[in-house]
Amino acid sequence: MSTHSLASQSVLIVGLARSGLAAARLARRLGARVLLSDSRGPEAFAGRLDEFEALADRVELGGHRDETLAQSDLIVVSPGVPLSIAPLRRALERGQRVIGEVELALGCIDLPLIAITGTNGKTTSAALCAHLLRAAGRRVFLGGNIGNPLSNLALELLERRGEAPRLAVVELSSFQLESAPSLHARVAVWLNLGDDHLDRYARPEDYAAAKARLFANQTSEDWIVIPADDARIAAHAAKSPARIATFGPGGDLRMEHDRLRCNLPGRDQCEIDITSWRLLGAHNRLNLEAAVGCALLAGADSEALAAGVADFAPLPHRLEPVGEIRGVRFYNDSKATTPDSLIAAVRSFEEPLVLIAGGRGKGADFSVLREAVAERARAVLLIGEAADELQHVLQGVTRLERCDTLEQAVRLGLELAAPDASVLLSPACASFDMFDDYEHRGRSFTAAVRTLAGGEA
Ligand code: ADP
Repeated sequence: MSTHSLASQSVLIVGLARSGLAAARLARRLGARVLLSDSRGPEAFAGRLDEFEALADRVELGGHRDETLAQSDLIVVSPGVPLSIAPLRRALERGQRVIGEVELALGCIDLPLIAITGTNGKTTSAALCAHLLRAAGRRVFLGGNIGNPLSNLALELLERRGEAPRLAVVELSSFQLESAPSLHARVAVWLNLGDDHLDRYARPEDYAAAKARLFANQTSEDWIVIPADDARIAAHAAKSPARIATFGPGGDLRMEHDRLRCNLPGRDQCEIDITSWRLLGAHNRLNLEAAVGCALLAGADSEALAAGVADFAPLPHRLEPVGEIRGVRFYNDSKATTPDSLIAAVRSFEEPLVLIAGGRGKGADFSVLREAVAERARAVLLIGEAADELQHVLQGVTRLERCDTLEQAVRLGLELAAPDASVLLSPACASFDMFDDYEHRGRSFTAAVRTLAGGEA
């Protein structure tokens, strides 16, 4: 799609969260007549309606009308809206053009892309990769699913604001990948494949197939970075002509004691000292290997990378240390919304844990938690809608307690953890039953820890 193709066209934006609104701004900048639509009614957007009116020629809330869709030249869908909803299915059946926000942005971006996907670790790896490249002196845009829509980069490039980035590190979810057919990644990273979003995909294979679109359009000049030990991911990668670099035990990028050994095919070998690396857990070491691989493939110098490795701090809500009371440390891992990420978190600790888990289940199988919980958790405090199911699955594995609120769980957590264990919030579930989102859940946890600490002082 060319950058000038929207003049006098009618573009409908479906889904008015951050990405949808960024797409609206971009479509308008490209000369389109912009319509905004959301299934939620005006009450969900209190105080924002003026902003919407200023951005668009028309705003339709409380549903997506077939008539409006049918009259649009282009329909741009936010990542939060499944392509399978009835009005979009009907638009596709009518032969209308339906694309994602990322696809709209890609039409205006002529930069090398490092694209990162996976079930877990996307944000950490993308933020780390951009951090490492910046440490090596590169001007890098960091965006996509990470909360900075790719449309913002497109706008920045169109308006030539400031010093334009030369490279983009883009975090992509499976939903974004399935609606971005022209994505062409110079370096494509698929970190791991677990069960996620089984609420939105009929079968696990469909979820994997959406992720595999990451490799579409790649050539033999491009690179793929994947784990050394995942046969399903390797099978998808093998269909692409791109060169493959692997990470993890036995991979081209792997840990040997406190050094990261990098032996990328066709490149000089190097080693990076990671004694100052601050993130907990073997999973974060995998994220580090993948991110270092991308930075090296993008031409960064290994000495500059070593400095970047040393000063990267844990991201909020991801095994983030948030306080200590009577020697008991509290960790906020609210972003862990899948069983896999709970397992990764629990295995990051040497000391015993009191685990706080639960929320709104996403259809994943919780029985995989039994082993890790048995190994490390002195007790599990259960919250939210999934409490019953978790209690059923974890019965007999360790002590289980139900809590009505997160504050109650934090108080009981301290009691059960003192003096030698840590308290970890790693829910393995979405947050929407009790909170606005995982950030709200993480902030509530941190606030409860601080209140408790204040009361103890
Ligand atoms: P994403 O953006 O894919 O959701 P994040 O970097 O935000 O990933 O991390 C989310 C959670 O996933 C973390 O809190 C951690 O528990 C878990 N996690 C991170 N990296 C990995 C990994 N490589 N493998 C398994 N779990 C991971």
